[in-house]
Amino acid sequence: MSFFTKAVDPDKWKEKYLNLLDEQEQSEATFKKSEESYKEKEDLLCKTIVRLTIATTGLDPLLDPHLLGIRDQLKNGINSHALKDELEKFTTSVAQIKHTPHQDRSVETGLLFDFLLQQYNTETHQSSLKRLKEKAETVKFETPNQLFIAILEAIEPNDLSAPNVIANHIDIGIVSRQMLLLLEGIEIPSIFDQQAQIAKQLLSASNQSTTDFEIILDKSFKLLLKIKQHNQTEQQDIDKFLSHITEQLAALDVSVMGASTAAIESAENRSRLDQSVSEQMEQLQLSSSTATKLEPLKGIINNRLATIAKEIQEHSQKEAIQREKTQQQLDDLVDKIKNMESESCDLKSKLKIANTQALRDTLTGLPNRNAYNERLETELARWKRYHSPLSLIIWDIDHFKNINDSYGHKAGDKVLLLIAKQLSDHSRATDFISRFGGEEFTMLLPNTDSQSALVLANQLRQTIEKTGFNASGVSVAITISCGITEFILSDTDEIAFERADQALYQAKEQGRNRCCIL
Ligand code: GH3
Ligand code: MG
Ligand code: MG
Repeated sequence: MSFFTKAVDPDKWKEKYLNLLDEQEQSEATFKKSEESYKEKEDLLCKTIVRLTIATTGLDPLLDPHLLGIRDQLKNGINSHALKDELEKFTTSVAQIKHTPHQDRSVETGLLFDFLLQQYNTETHQSSLKRLKEKAETVKFETPNQLFIAILEAIEPNDLSAPNVIANHIDIGIVSRQMLLLLEGIEIPSIFDQQAQIAKQLLSASNQSTTDFEIILDKSFKLLLKIKQHNQTEQQDIDKFLSHITEQLAALDVSVMGASTAAIESAENRSRLDQSVSEQMEQLQLSSSTATKLEPLKGIINNRLATIAKEIQEHSQKEAIQREKTQQQLDDLVDKIKNMESESCDLKSKLKIANTQALRDTLTGLPNRNAYNERLETELARWKRYHSPLSLIIWDIDHFKNINDSYGHKAGDKVLLLIAKQLSDHSRATDFISRFGGEEFTMLLPNTDSQSALVLANQLRQTIEKTGFNASGVSVAITISCGITEFILSDTDEIAFERADQALYQAKEQGRNRCCIL
């Protein structure tokens, strides 16, 4: 009631109205400010997410399409419904990613380093590779790319300055070549032949995209891992077999001990019998010398004889049991020896096969690089002893990559086989030919100076030039070049090899299909 009765002050209403207006303006400004700051934060968040999706693209092929989807969503402003959908799909894919166990990668890198240490045996390479190996074992590299860059730095430091290798971006060609060398350098069990051929073919294809390359690299790694596991299993089999043999030997030892104990026991029985018989005889002698009457003497003699007969009978029984026991032990022994003989025959033939495989190239059947190294040692020792000349030839097929690229890897393999056969058929029995790796062959020529080696090499070169190759009805010219050197007194095998390699380089520089001496 007082409201109606109170006199209304128009100024008060006006003031109230103005105050309200102020308040509203102020709250609008605050709201606008907070809306701006919210927008700014949203923009910042969107940018961060977009960058994160860019950075994580390529981590896993399952995630890539969703990362792209999220990126697209954020670029066109936030549509929370569509973004939610995309995030749900992304989450499902994250759950499906299979994590490769860390250990696998370290086994792969271990294998890679073992091989590289074998391949690069100069002091500098060895020390930088060993350092890198330790680093890879402790620090771990996040991606194969980083590991390969570090390896390339260690083995081909100059190549990194080349324009085709940019920081953090590796030259696919170099990595493919190294991986190919790795596959060619290890002994591939026959069950992996086909997979290895495919991997080699993919690695030597020239037109790989980065994504293809990563898949190929991953496949090659996995193949290497499988080969390593296979070899480990084989090693375990041999270990098992050896421990079985050791057990058998121990059992044999026990049997021999048993047999000899039986022999000792038998000897003891006999001497006990001898002693007892001679005691009885002594008693008899004594009784007969002191006896005065025949009848009691007869009785005594009969008793003694009965005792002796009993003792002899007991002894023969014991002997029979002992003989049976010994015979049984001897039979066991013979069985065990027979088993061991047949098992050691198996092992011998297994070892023979393994040895042959380790020294032969599976494609051409020629001795491989390991065999070359072994033979080189023998030839160098002979050369030092007798001072008769020793020459080395390194052969390399000209433009072989073109043959693979134009007619396929299988045709390339046929060419390798053909050349291996021609080189073997047309050289002397004393010359040692090996497939050193890829499309390179080496020849060690004992009792041959470099000039005679040149004559022989030119004959071989011409024979191969005349042979040619037929690829699906098309006649393809094949030529090879070589570098020749003769070992000199101050040489190490590495220096001589380097010289022959330089000579080969000259032959290629001078137009190929030629032989050069250095
Ligand atoms: P150059 O005349 O300079 O020697 O040229 P090139 O093409 O022969 O030399 P490059 O070293 O570039 O190519 C060698 C090729 O040999 C690359 C690789 O694809 C191929 N290769 C290596 N091993 C094998 C194999 O076992 N089978 C086949 N088919 N090709 C192989
Ligand atoms: Mg080559
Ligand atoms: Mg070549």
